[in-house]
Amino acid sequence: MSGPLPGVTVGVDLGGTGTRIIALDGDGVVLHQLSSPTPTSPAQAISGLIGAITAAAAGRQLRAVGIGASGPVDPLGIIRNTETLPAFSGIQVAPVISERFGAPCVIDNDAVAAAVGEHACGAGRGSAGLLVITLGTGVGAAALTGGRPFRGADGGHPEAGHIPITGPPSPCYCGLPTCWEQLASRTALDQLTGKDTEALARKARARDVAAAGVFDTYGERVGTGLVILLAIFRPDRVVIAGGAARFLDLFGHGLHRSLDRGPKYTPKPTVAAAELGNLSGAIGAAVMAREQATPSSEAHTTMHRPSSPAAR
Ligand SMILES: [Zn+2]
Repeated sequence: MSGPLPGVTVGVDLGGTGTRIIALDGDGVVLHQLSSPTPTSPAQAISGLIGAITAAAAGRQLRAVGIGASGPVDPLGIIRNTETLPAFSGIQVAPVISERFGAPCVIDNDAVAAAVGEHACGAGRGSAGLLVITLGTGVGAAALTGGRPFRGADGGHPEAGHIPITGPPSPCYCGLPTCWEQLASRTALDQLTGKDTEALARKARARDVAAAGVFDTYGERVGTGLVILLAIFRPDRVVIAGGAARFLDLFGHGLHRSLDRGPKYTPKPTVAAAELGNLSGAIGAAVMAREQATPSSEAHTTMHRPSSPAAR
């Protein structure tokens, strides 16, 4: 006996370096996860994405697709990130995916997606005011109040990676001589450790003082920007996501020392590593797609629906 397989929602985390894709079943269980390098050529961008979504769905009916993309996403759902997502910038991604699969497609910033994922089923569960910081190729930040993302007047999320902070000169493509992203991203950590961050982490965990000092310095730098966001958003919890999150045990001490130097009225939230690991963004993108595909939900994000009924 056989019948149609239950449908899935696919979540895509489109990062500057790599793309992670998961398929969630109706109970929120991750059925498949895949990763691949993010295409850098416009000619391969959409075809690569379609191929990866098809592979993740693995023959099941696709109910919705959610995409969390690195950098700014405009109110029309167009990625505006020529620096780290050049192949996907300025093109219609969501409508094309929606038409191709006959399923709604939602697109938002990757930090927002990670925050939604951690709030729904990770380290942010139950938080009334959650701040999620992604330390990856760049630095992203998203604030959720009562589970809903903070938005600017143009619908955008805070571009908090590019806040001016004091630190060694490190000119950024944003135009600043030093900004938080240039000192606190996973990329910056790799520069600080001399590229082999994993090897240095093993030394630091074996109580090598010099190795531990490198992570301590990095923690201080993460803290210099975070303390500003604490003063503004007043979260009850901070979740650290992205590629650097798994070193929080090593840089947490420097981070907290930096936070302790903050102004008197800064809240002291708990700081935890993402529980969904490097899948926060992909799972969050799928959760956003699932929630927004429900007609009763209030739209926060640009949602594209297919113009014809879904193919069977
Ligand atoms: Zn910058």
